Amino acid sequence: MVKKKEIWDKPERLCRECGKKLLGRVDQRFCNDFCRNTYNRHEKQRLAAETADYTEVTIIAILKNNHLLLRSFNKHQAVTFLIDKEKLYKAGFNFNFCTGCYQESDGRLRYYCFEQTWQELPYGRLELGVDRQKLGLTSSGRGVQL
Ligand SMILES: [Zn+2]
Repeated sequence: MVKKKEIWDKPERLCRECGKKLLGRVDQRFCNDFCRNTYNRHEKQRLAAETADYTEVTIIAILKNNHLLLRSFNKHQAVTFLIDKEKLYKAGFNFNFCTGCYQESDGRLRYYCFEQTWQELPYGRLELGVDRQKLGLTSSGRGVQL
């Protein structure tokens, strides 16, 4: 009986990278090497981003990485694509850098990374998009029907 109670009292431990339940040793922090490596790599990037004094080269590298991530998450280059902000953040997206910002008619801000766009939504959601005019695909506006 005592043993059972001990098990129930233990707080649930989760993988720091993917959030999966950990069943191993008490000091286990990740479910596998892949998660540990991914977490450490992102942690390094986060630290570097916070402490860097931004040279032109690092800014371009951050924008390139942001652009790549926006493109890879919005695989089909949809004009409107919803995603959890955390997903993008965990993948190494740096929200401090954009190439432009545009205020929509409803007052909300849309951020640009070249032709890729994102906008904050309630509940930690993001709306990704593509500015087709910037891609030269349409001649009239962003072509977005909200
Ligand atoms: Zn994991």
